[in-house]
Amino acid sequence: MAERISVMVPWLGAEESDALAEVVASGWVAQGPRVAEFEARFAEAMQAPFAVATSSCTTALQLALIVTGIGEGDDVVVPSLSFIATTNAVRYVGANPVFADVDPASGNMTGRTLAAAMTPATRAVIAVDQGGMPLDLDDIRAVADARSTVVIEDAACGAGSTYKGRPVGAGAEITAWSFHPRKVLTTGEGGMLTTRREDWAERARRLREHSMSISAADRHATVLAPAEEYTEVGFNFRMTDLQAAVGLVQLARLPEIVARRRAVAARYQAAIAPIAGLRAVADPAHGTSNFQSFWVEVGPEYPVDRDGLLVALAEADISARRGIMAAHRQPPYRALAPEEGLPATERLHDGTLILPVYHQLTDEDQDRVIAVLRSPGGDRR
Ligand SMILES: *Cc1c(COP(=O)(O)O)cnc(C)c1O
Repeated sequence: MAERISVMVPWLGAEESDALAEVVASGWVAQGPRVAEFEARFAEAMQAPFAVATSSCTTALQLALIVTGIGEGDDVVVPSLSFIATTNAVRYVGANPVFADVDPASGNMTGRTLAAAMTPATRAVIAVDQGGMPLDLDDIRAVADARSTVVIEDAACGAGSTYKGRPVGAGAEITAWSFHPRKVLTTGEGGMLTTRREDWAERARRLREHSMSISAADRHATVLAPAEEYTEVGFNFRMTDLQAAVGLVQLARLPEIVARRRAVAARYQAAIAPIAGLRAVADPAHGTSNFQSFWVEVGPEYPVDRDGLLVALAEADISARRGIMAAHRQPPYRALAPEEGLPATERLHDGTLILPVYHQLTDEDQDRVIAVLRSPGGDRR
């Protein structure tokens, strides 16, 4: 019996274990020197002037909305086709999410779909590099800038993807990242905020640590700690040094992780191209994807529908996933679904599935997946 193939497996090893052991031996496990080092290295890698580590991408998005001044009464345009955290973050600050549709080729919001969703109360937009697919930031900015609307980039899935020759997020005013194990680079849980604005970075840095005027690490460095002040109502959105130590090892490996994912994706693309009724996600003209989610759209010419293909894969002990979720179909947000619907979002949500892609996936494993794609009704010789 062949082994089960998972949809995603993080690539962790002895280096991560050693880095963790060092932190434990140092006696400082909370937010401290390793978090600071991870921030510096991440900012450098993503070509962002400032980076602030957080407990998750969700909390990074919440901080991004706060520091950009978004709150009650404001509308924030988000794609419904995204993990629900993108929409939830808007609600956390008391603002109203407004759903935009996406381009069916990429799964991303575009200037056109953003323009169609803008309201007189729109003050911000959260644009997502969905599944690692780089969004066309210039196209989004052209619409947003004309209305003085802040663009927050949700690059939760985007580490290692590029836009016009630079890392995604590099050109944005403010970008949020995730290090959940389902993403390309992991710290177990964790997130990051990168930004071009020093004032936003400083406020986010304070807000994540109860809005304390002096960080715990700085107070610890002195025997007689200076008195701290709590400048506003803050949060505990800190990353630990244990997580950051793992993140530093993972970040150094990012080019290798992405190269392997892209090789696996290219092999799938070549195999899928001749199969009638299947369409595989592909790089857009303006960038390269890390293929955090390698999705395939199942069309009417294919012998089975999307759910039928998921069952065929499961019968071969291959774990695939339904396509990216649509937030406007979930209970908290059903009332916000636009009357005319979100046709491209619904089409991709209903018609796509995500195939296994991870570093350790072998050609033999991948051939098992491809055999099912070629013959979902059986006869997989
Ligand atoms: C995973 C994900 C998030 C949430 O990330 P966490 O680190 O788990 O909070 C937010 N947005 C998008 C687009 C995601 O894929």
